[in-house]
Amino acid sequence: MSFTEPSPTATALLLLGRGSDPSSERGVDCPGELPSPSDPDLVTRAAAAKAALGDRLFILGHHYQRDEVIQFADVTGDSFKLARDAAARPEAKYIVFCGVHFMAESADILTGPEQKVILPDLAAGCSMADMAVLGQVEAAWDRLTELGLAATTVPITYMNSSADIKGFVGRNGGTVCTSSNAERALKWAFERGERVIFLPDQHLGRNTAVLELGLSLDDCVLYDPHKPSGGLTEEQLRDAKMILWRGHCSVHGRFTLDSVREVRERVPGVNVLVHPECRHDVVLAADQVGSTEYIIKAIEAAPAGSKWAIGTELNLVRRLGNAHPDKQIMFLDRTVCYCSTMNRIDLPHLVWALEELVAGRVVNEITVDADTAHHARVALAQMLALP
Ligand code: SF4
Repeated sequence: MSFTEPSPTATALLLLGRGSDPSSERGVDCPGELPSPSDPDLVTRAAAAKAALGDRLFILGHHYQRDEVIQFADVTGDSFKLARDAAARPEAKYIVFCGVHFMAESADILTGPEQKVILPDLAAGCSMADMAVLGQVEAAWDRLTELGLAATTVPITYMNSSADIKGFVGRNGGTVCTSSNAERALKWAFERGERVIFLPDQHLGRNTAVLELGLSLDDCVLYDPHKPSGGLTEEQLRDAKMILWRGHCSVHGRFTLDSVREVRERVPGVNVLVHPECRHDVVLAADQVGSTEYIIKAIEAAPAGSKWAIGTELNLVRRLGNAHPDKQIMFLDRTVCYCSTMNRIDLPHLVWALEELVAGRVVNEITVDADTAHHARVALAQMLALP
């Protein structure tokens, strides 16, 4: 069985910079000469630069990266695993993070001061992380303080948030969580407070609260940072157990109930497996829900001949399909759904960043200021100490 590619759409191709429109890389700011994507020597150049840097270099590749980049990664994984892998390699002076901005920040927070973290393209951000800005979160906290609710509210932020937000959570007695330990983080929080403010992904917060902790949808309210007081009354804030930040992942948020119904009709016996960043109705309609690592393990353990429609980023689904030809693996949606910002990191940017390092120039270094890093580390340490 082979992996069937979903249909490309013009928009998706343009976002990926794979179309013919030369302006599709607009916004990418490289202070040097970016190699042409059509340069036939890109693979050789990347391999040569990597060899020249030897043990001084450690390349991290997030699961959602393109294959052309992943082939050069020393290690692959989700964002937290990669940041820890980097911290475990103190001899590596240069950490090239093939992922997005908040991931590179986490790596900088966890690695030593002499290690430099490099993001090959500064345009590789995360739309979800951008949905919670420090000033907005501080305004929400001020409102809770004004109402006398902050002392009984525990802030939790998903790993997919900026260093500023992790620092805020660390300063205010909360924790970071990943999609693998969100349930433990919530249980821990409810032993300490009456309610949680969950940042920035409303879907992970809602799915975990309702499906894992048995809370009801009525226990959850949605805080919209663009409305006064989040668009919520004092009573709503006071009565809520989960104050969900109005943020979402633009990739996982695309899957709909119709995608699930359509694949079930088209492929009898299919197992629908989705990420908890998907919408609540999609998660309810799926057969299984779990983090990226969970999805990978579920497919590895699946029997030959089984059929899987997976709701997560397409690069990973395609790689799983190619790695398991004895199983029928398909993308949950009919059209392509890459993380467009993650896909900013391509081979030309990687080659450029590596060759600059060989020349003794550190480009696109990501640094987090000492105070923010300290408090973010507190929140990350709390996550590691979760019971
Ligand atoms: S897949 Fe979603 S959460 Fe992950 S980096 Fe892309 S936009 Fe952000």
